[in-house]
Amino acid sequence: MGAKYHICDVCGTRIECEAPRYRLKINVFAAYERLEIGAADVSRDYEEDIRKLVEEMERMDPKQLEEDVAKQLNFDLCRPCQRKFLSDPLGNRGERGASIPTFDVDEFLRKLQEEQ
Ligand SMILES: [Zn+2]
Repeated sequence: MGAKYHICDVCGTRIECEAPRYRLKINVFAAYERLEIGAADVSRDYEEDIRKLVEEMERMDPKQLEEDVAKQLNFDLCRPCQRKFLSDPLGNRGERGASIPTFDVDEFLRKLQEEQ
């Protein structure tokens, strides 16, 4: 039998199975810009560059390399932590004076119910 409850990954609170639970998935991946290839680039010999890159990658820890390219993180959140996260996803509120509009879950759920 599986667990009857989950644990909030942020605050450690037990989330009972009937209580709202939120799944937070974070994808951190390298955003490569599309390569612009000009006339000068075409005539360039890339062999040396590629060889260096491969050598560099061989020296790196495969796990580290993987994390440098793409990393997915999964968390379970209780409702208060979900709200806290949405109101300040990067945890920098105040520091840079960023004002991120708060997403009101209660309001959203009410609207959904009204529409039904
Ligand atoms: Zn929590």
